[in-house]
Amino acid sequence: MNTVTAVAPTLAPAKKDRQPKPLPPPNSDFYELYETLNADELATVKRVRAFMEAKVAPVITKYWVEDAFPFELLPAVKELGIGGLAMKGYGCVGGSLALLGFVQMEIARIDPSFATFMGVHIGLAMGSIYIDGSEEQKQKWLPPMARWEKIGCFGRTEPLVGSGAGAGLLTTAKREGDIWVLNGQKRWIGNSPWCDVSIIWARDVADNQVKGFIVENKTTPGFSVEKIQNKIALKVVQNGQITLRDCRVPEANRLQADASFRDTARVLRMTRYLVAWEATGCQMGAYEHALKYAQERLQFGKPIGSFQLVQDLLAKMLGNVTACQCMVARTAQLQAEGKLGDHHAALAKAFTTVRMRETVAWAREIFGGNGIVLDYDVARFFADSEALYSYEGTYQMQNLIIGKAITGLSAFV
Ligand SMILES: Cc1cc2nc3c(=O)[nH]c(=O)nc-3n(C[C@H](O)[C@H](O)[C@H](O)COP(=O)(O)OP(=O)(O)OC[C@H]3O[C@@H](n4cnc5c(N)ncnc54)[C@H](O)[C@@H]3O)c2cc1C
Repeated sequence: MNTVTAVAPTLAPAKKDRQPKPLPPPNSDFYELYETLNADELATVKRVRAFMEAKVAPVITKYWVEDAFPFELLPAVKELGIGGLAMKGYGCVGGSLALLGFVQMEIARIDPSFATFMGVHIGLAMGSIYIDGSEEQKQKWLPPMARWEKIGCFGRTEPLVGSGAGAGLLTTAKREGDIWVLNGQKRWIGNSPWCDVSIIWARDVADNQVKGFIVENKTTPGFSVEKIQNKIALKVVQNGQITLRDCRVPEANRLQADASFRDTARVLRMTRYLVAWEATGCQMGAYEHALKYAQERLQFGKPIGSFQLVQDLLAKMLGNVTACQCMVARTAQLQAEGKLGDHHAALAKAFTTVRMRETVAWAREIFGGNGIVLDYDVARFFADSEALYSYEGTYQMQNLIIGKAITGLSAFV
């Protein structure tokens, strides 16, 4: 008789007495992408994760339901050490654009609204000044924005001009000596109902070129903003409709390095790339919630995660998450190599947001009826993903950018 099999029954407890093996905790970093970060970067990402899990997760659904921004969290945000991430000098913390991507992914993993608030302030508002501002403008505006003392927004979309912004904005800028007079409206502007500084894009009536202006919301005569009500997505983000009526802005507040729509596009290339990270984080959150639920929810006397068809959904979700993570990581490398083009950023935004829509729908499905109530978080990801899919250029607009690059033929009208 084989001695191993002879003694084994006395060493191991009978099968029925054995403790069930602990189930693996949900982990959306299947290909260990976070291991590509260095120790400092990882520490930043872990700090953000701890903040999001401890401070934001417990309260965010309440704010979402109330359609309100959690101002109570801002003091803790200031302590995170992420003010002006990916920007050098001017009181900004620096770091790579990849690190900013990881941070945005991490924030969206808990709450896409909070990631959008950050993306608008750091990416769009500070990014516009950093990319298109003069040295003097950077010195003046970026330090208080990096300290979160002044919060910014970015006004490009208009009530009548969304996807077609590149073909011509209706908001006008007319120079009168050292003053620019702005007239028009901006719609959907995130943070605008309460923030301090707006980057407003307007068409110069003299040369028909788009120019950027730094407008102080609370003190500039002719500037007013109304909160957009009744949204079904990203309800924590306060979006506004801005009206500019003979709004007078000094020449010193015109973004000096911005001369045309192409300069605006440099900002959008960076922020579209960030939305791809957010869309990836949104899927990570939905997948982790769904996996945990599948491990705990019993039907037919068994965890639903033990059923083959549920495992199929989970595996497909993880495939989407992992593919998107690898894609955004590669776009970060292209950016670091100075090779990231509009078409690369567009493909990342288009692909990750489509996969996100699929992933959050499967996550919601795993929750059955509970998937449509906010108490289980996954409904929030499901709703919020719709806004991420459409903002910063719709799916169709991204594909037109990609189509132009790969065919050499422009389908833009
Ligand atoms: C929650 C949220 C936050 C936002 N935040 C900001 C912000 O902070 N700042 C800002 O400036 N903007 C912001 N936006 C605006 C956003 O970028 C626009 O909604 C987006 O660009 C689409 O514009 P639109 O809504 O006017 O849709 P439209 O341009 O009217 O498009 C409607 C539909 O028609 C399709 N379409 C249009 N033209 C074509 C074409 N040529 N071929 C094929 N299909 C076409 C579009 O893809 C879309 O499906 C935000 C939007 C949302 C929803």
